[in-house]
Amino acid sequence: MNTSDLLTRTAALATGWLERLDERPVGASATVEELRARLGGPLGDEGAGAWEVVRDLARAAEPGLVAIPSGRYFGFVIGGGLPAAVAADWLSTAWDQCPALYACGPAASVAEEVAGAWLGELLGLPAHASHAFVSGCQSAHLTCLAAARHHVLAAAGWDVEELGLAAAPPIRVLVGERRHASIDRALRWLGIGRASLSVVPADARGRMRTRALREALGDGPAIVCAQAGEINTGAFDDLETIAELSAAAGAWLHLDGAFGLWAAASPALRHLVKGAERADSWAFDTHKWLNVPYDSALAYCAHPDAHRAAMSVTADYLVQGGPGRPREPMDWTPAFSRRARAFPVYAALRFLGRRGVADLVERSCAHARAAADHLAAVPGCQVINEVVLNQVLFRFGDDGATDRILRRVNDSGVAWMSGTTFDGRRAVRLSVCNWQTSADDIARTVEAFALAAALER
Ligand SMILES: *Cc1c(COP(=O)(O)O)cnc(C)c1O
Repeated sequence: MNTSDLLTRTAALATGWLERLDERPVGASATVEELRARLGGPLGDEGAGAWEVVRDLARAAEPGLVAIPSGRYFGFVIGGGLPAAVAADWLSTAWDQCPALYACGPAASVAEEVAGAWLGELLGLPAHASHAFVSGCQSAHLTCLAAARHHVLAAAGWDVEELGLAAAPPIRVLVGERRHASIDRALRWLGIGRASLSVVPADARGRMRTRALREALGDGPAIVCAQAGEINTGAFDDLETIAELSAAAGAWLHLDGAFGLWAAASPALRHLVKGAERADSWAFDTHKWLNVPYDSALAYCAHPDAHRAAMSVTADYLVQGGPGRPREPMDWTPAFSRRARAFPVYAALRFLGRRGVADLVERSCAHARAAADHLAAVPGCQVINEVVLNQVLFRFGDDGATDRILRRVNDSGVAWMSGTTFDGRRAVRLSVCNWQTSADDIARTVEAFALAAALER
């Protein structure tokens, strides 16, 4: 089979998957043993036909696929894929560009400039901020916090890229009690261990207590990590006060805005991230709320020199700079070679326009509020959080009931979402983050909970 026929048939497999989303169970149905049996076995000595390989892969994987693009997938905080972004992602794969350097992907490199500038403007970030396309918010944290580490140590007269950390002045890092685990992991990779973190207590909604931050901020090199969008409640730290305090203490303010920073794209929700523009660095995902296929996120930095100093690399064989001095993507990312992530982001932004992005965010939040209202009417269901964004947190009678009811709903295939522990008790987390989610999806999901809860009585 020639390549054209192979890709055409594969496109039919992909569209078949997307068209079956509504009738297919949202969760995976196969067990891990079944999937090992379906996909496993020895690697043959001889190869096989390309189409047979792809067809068999699709068949074997099917019961182990999760219908994440479905409008009734509410697990973690995971977006769907906008058709324009999926298509551009395919093209990006076929083009196989590697924008480590401008020379390896001139169009990809310029698409990064363009989409990066659009995004920065959309989210209200300073025009002079530098940016990097990375694989997820986790790598965005690594990028931003490496820049922060460079900056605060340089201010203390220490060149961390040259001298390392062994004899460096200590860096104080202040983090909220309810930060995302990816913050700790990024810091760990940068030589800042868990025991050295100053943990600022959070209020009941998960917001950093600013009075405690004020007391904890002293003198010397410091990094403050704040959050827009707490993973359970969707709550926002008081960014205005935190920015004020950080600036007064000369600390670097990093913002984890994985999904919450998207509130800035909506005139109706922008007030939630007031003060965000005063941070020194920002990390957020495009694979969550912009609904670009995985993996896609960005790191922004208000201090391009620190960003570049922390990330850039040179070697004799590399080709950097040139006529018109193009931006070299590799100077800003922790990755060397990587895929051309800007193309699907570019496509998603052009497809939606400013109004479309705002609408995607606002619609998701409206569905989350509706879900909370309807769930509150289900006998035995208690909605725990004030739905400020797209996250709904709820539970039933006791931990056992909450887990059983969630399992029934997930097993029913109608919807899928994840459980969590909040305030020491089990809860269900429903996150709306998908362009496909409709009022009907919410109604069917709430009905599934009502049925599952009725079995408890
Ligand atoms: C999802 C998430 C992350 C991690 O993002 P990845 O894209 O999975 O690396 C970090 N912080 C918050 C608040 C998140 O929701």
